[in-house]
Amino acid sequence: MLFGKTLDRQLGNRPKEIKFCTKCVVSSQRPRITFDEQGVCSACRYAYEKHNLIDWDERERQLRDLLDRFRSKDGSYDCLVPGSGGKDSSYVSHQLKYKYGMHPLTVTWAPFEYTDIGWKNFLNWKDSGFDNLLCFPNGQVHRKLSRLAFELLGDAWEPFAYGQKAYAFHMAIKFKIPLIFYGESGEIEYGGSTRNKDKPYEDPDDWRELYYKGSGIDELLQHGLEADLFSKEEIANNPLMFYRQPDPEALRNLGCQMHWFSYYKKWVPQENYYYSVENTGFQANPEHSEGTYSKYASLDDKQDGFHFYLAFIKFGIARATSDAAHEIRDGHITREEGVALVKRYDGAFPARHFQWFLNYLGISEGEFWDIINMYHELSPHVWKKVDGQWKLRRNVWGGGVDD
Ligand SMILES: [Zn+2]
Repeated sequence: MLFGKTLDRQLGNRPKEIKFCTKCVVSSQRPRITFDEQGVCSACRYAYEKHNLIDWDERERQLRDLLDRFRSKDGSYDCLVPGSGGKDSSYVSHQLKYKYGMHPLTVTWAPFEYTDIGWKNFLNWKDSGFDNLLCFPNGQVHRKLSRLAFELLGDAWEPFAYGQKAYAFHMAIKFKIPLIFYGESGEIEYGGSTRNKDKPYEDPDDWRELYYKGSGIDELLQHGLEADLFSKEEIANNPLMFYRQPDPEALRNLGCQMHWFSYYKKWVPQENYYYSVENTGFQANPEHSEGTYSKYASLDDKQDGFHFYLAFIKFGIARATSDAAHEIRDGHITREEGVALVKRYDGAFPARHFQWFLNYLGISEGEFWDIINMYHELSPHVWKKVDGQWKLRRNVWGGGVDD
């Protein structure tokens, strides 16, 4: 290890008591999630509103009003849709163009390394009728940032997240396209901060807390300098602008607005999947993804499995928990079925791309496990070492050390 410490401030905010939602399978460890007095999580509460209380006809009117204000008369771009060509961005862009007569420019911040199925889906997306700007960040810089983030934030995926958020806003300024459409608000749909629940957009001021986990690229670079991973010249000679939030003044001058499609349309991932298969040539994986039972979400990047695996180490819940939780909320499966799926799949090691991951970060297998072990040790309320093996203290099916 280079540092033997973490900068992830979310870790200190985890409640020490682990409890599971009485309606779905998520636990109190999910960052920013809250539980009410009946033990129901904020995502389930929102799901109830979504399926029972929200007037979706009224939201449809709001969407049409918004689009009427922004739609171009001369066929020029009038909105940006950031995405990967997965089921969600395919659905959003296709709806905007073909149902609502908008002229979207799609923009993609490239994954660390495309999987075959991810690349195919990306190509099929643009072939279904979209202009696309695909941005690959500098491979040397990105690799080093990932190496730093893996150790310091417990997630090598972080540099991707910075660009995924910021790149679209830079392009909005560059091409003077003020309207940006993201798919769903993960904070609201999957459990997290609910402060933006009743509005269709979020403010750039929210970014630091929600996307940068209280940290950011400059902190990573500083540590990279200390560890001689970066030289001063290397940092000075690379613009690194797509990792950073653009100038708020430029966004204000443009009148930039970022809206969630999920505010206007009831967001049901399984339906986005069916829609994108039919309309944009989207294909699911023939086999389920490691660590979950689903075949149609988060398919495009060889790194994805490690993002979810590290969540498992830090929070004790991972990809199957997340997939099962929202399928329970959407009424596709029962809680009992969800619990069984979590028991069977959650936290499985992403072996398929392990060698690739080590090579990408330039670390040995020993270093990998040292870092994983450090995050176990940083989570003593989640894990207990029994006979040299880390065991979950509590899990949703009740077989944990403390259950
Ligand atoms: Zn819940």
